[in-house]
Amino acid sequence: MARNPRYDLLFEPVRIGPVTARNRFYAVPHAAGMTNSMPHMRAAFRGVKAEGGWGVVCTGYVSIDPGSDDAPLPYATLWDDADVRSHALVTEAVHRHGALAGIELWHGGGSVMNRSSRIAPMSPSGTSWMATHVSFMGNQRPRAMDAGDIRALLAAQRAAARRARQAGFDIVYVYAGMGYLPYEFLLPEWNRRTDGYGGSLANRARIVRELLEVTHEAVGGKCAVALRVSLEELRGRPGAHAASEAHELVALLADLPDLWDVKLDSSPTDCPPSRFAPEGSHEPVIDFVKKLTAKPVVGVGRFTSPDTMLSQIRRGVLDLIGAARPSIADPFLPRKIEEGREAEIRECIGCNICISSWHDGVPVRCTQNPTIGEEWRRGWHPEQIAAAGSTASVLVVGAGPAGLECALSLGRRGYEVTVAEAADDIGGRLRFETRLPGLAAWARVLEWRRAQLDKLPNVTVYRGNLLSADDVLGLGATHVVVATGARWARLLYSPLEVPAGSLDGPGVLTPDDLAAGVVPEDPVVVYDFDNYYLGGVLAEHLARGGHSVSYVTPAGHVSAWTIMSNEQPQVHRALAAAGVSRHTLARVTAFGAGAVTLADQFTNAETRLECRALVIVGTRFGNDRLYGDLSGRAEELADAGIRSLTRIGDALAPGAIVHAVYSGHRYARELDADPAALGIRRDAPLAAVP
Ligand code: ADP
Ligand code: SF4
Repeated sequence: MARNPRYDLLFEPVRIGPVTARNRFYAVPHAAGMTNSMPHMRAAFRGVKAEGGWGVVCTGYVSIDPGSDDAPLPYATLWDDADVRSHALVTEAVHRHGALAGIELWHGGGSVMNRSSRIAPMSPSGTSWMATHVSFMGNQRPRAMDAGDIRALLAAQRAAARRARQAGFDIVYVYAGMGYLPYEFLLPEWNRRTDGYGGSLANRARIVRELLEVTHEAVGGKCAVALRVSLEELRGRPGAHAASEAHELVALLADLPDLWDVKLDSSPTDCPPSRFAPEGSHEPVIDFVKKLTAKPVVGVGRFTSPDTMLSQIRRGVLDLIGAARPSIADPFLPRKIEEGREAEIRECIGCNICISSWHDGVPVRCTQNPTIGEEWRRGWHPEQIAAAGSTASVLVVGAGPAGLECALSLGRRGYEVTVAEAADDIGGRLRFETRLPGLAAWARVLEWRRAQLDKLPNVTVYRGNLLSADDVLGLGATHVVVATGARWARLLYSPLEVPAGSLDGPGVLTPDDLAAGVVPEDPVVVYDFDNYYLGGVLAEHLARGGHSVSYVTPAGHVSAWTIMSNEQPQVHRALAAAGVSRHTLARVTAFGAGAVTLADQFTNAETRLECRALVIVGTRFGNDRLYGDLSGRAEELADAGIRSLTRIGDALAPGAIVHAVYSGHRYARELDADPAALGIRRDAPLAAVP
């Protein structure tokens, strides 16, 4: 199909200093968990984005010196020449597909602990960051930088920029964002220096100016020099001569960088979940930048709609459409627009599971795109899948995220697929969960698959079909995939964090009951030790529906795990705003006579909380009845011609939607595949010991 001429503007080349991007699609620097220790995985992952049409593809954060060491978080290094080859793999993969490669050079300053290198960290005035998340906490504080440290910083940037050029990068960054070292110089709270690097904004910006200058010198006009800067705090400060200090900073440095890459200051505001921020949420902070510089400007905003992208450019907000998450959820987003297939874009849902992979220190995962991070390791291409290895037919029982992804991928391979779903519509858990506050965008997981499945004549979906083992035996499929999901349990836990028996009886509910339409009696207590989104979002949902709600958790925070997905502070605020009373470090130990008994997690001191309905959001178990019935009838399976019976998704191991999608995809990839080609290829660092 041809491109809709309406989107031509998105495909105009953009000059960035000495280099030219072929279009306006810019995959910005973002951590992906694949550091120099997984160089082939990293290169293939970035290369696929270039193949998918992005005009520029950048790395994640790359440390310029061992004094900037974020271990155990997954950061890359360009500390010496031994690191060059590892990055050259990325530039080669990106150039192979006609894109420019950018590298984000980084120094963490007072926000890193140098846990591995054990070099005393440094910041402009010895100030450190106040971490509230355990994995960011440490017991090493930075020292104040002296003039020699500043010279060393500039020398490290210069050397890293030279190596970046050697590795083949086209765009080399100075990174003054997100609490890292150059950003610390910009803010007077971090920077209390009395020398030429502190005081007036011009002085506070001096280090950024000098970093830009040494980077320009090092790349000798061969690469563009980009400045990535966080403007949220500065925008909130009135300037001495302009609307804000952000305006003054941009005016001061206006044409010194070849490219402005503008963003917000903290991960939860810069990369907010869709639950709390819409597409394009950066605009009020960065909308002025283009007016103050003649250089191109790139920014992000979870852009997945080509019309929103157009509007950003037409209204003079951005020149280049930056994307991290949308390029993960669909590395082929630009190509799809270019080929008139924008309806096929697998839109990011804004769940931030990808961010959680960085916190976990593992290769990036994505709810929408199961192939991400697996391009090299498992050989999974986001748009290509091997043709069916046989004429077998497949029955998929259950049309939740796992069953849908499995059926779609099997269908694309060419198998004859039958999907049977008990409910009146497909979607599984998404049918209920996407109706909860802030989760509407998650319906994209279902709707994208629904639309793609509708195009496949070899996949037939039956709704309202609750299959029994006899039904399955009668259907005559070659392979049976059980994707029947999981159910929430009424288990409680002891202070030792081990199961302490079930709490049954009237008024004890689970999310499954609420999904089935049970209306709880007031007052309601939501008891959450699942710790992800559901407990918090159900409490908010019930409170917004007029119920009197308390939220109880043995964890230290509400929805504690959502710190990993950049949501936790907003979840807390949402519950407070909805009038939900919050009780942390408390376990439910009993329920009856209109109250629950709560035990302090550490002292066991007991209190009572009024309650007529207790919703336990804790543990789930796979719905394995069908699987159990069938696996006990091996002979009948064989007689019916069924050659394999497999569980996937929550039926196999209950988890977040990302795992169900992955599980369904993996089954589809591996059916009839050569066993020798299965499994994970092991990557290894390339750096030779110098
Ligand atoms: P997952 O996340 O693993 O995809 P879900 O719980 O979201 O799991 O979806 C499982 C789906 O399977 C639900 O829509 C449920 O109605 C359906 N299902 C469960 N048991 C059967 C069955 N015996 N026959 C048909 N559909 C079933
Ligand atoms: Fe988007 Fe979620 Fe995928 Fe991240 S994990 S790219 S937020 S869909």
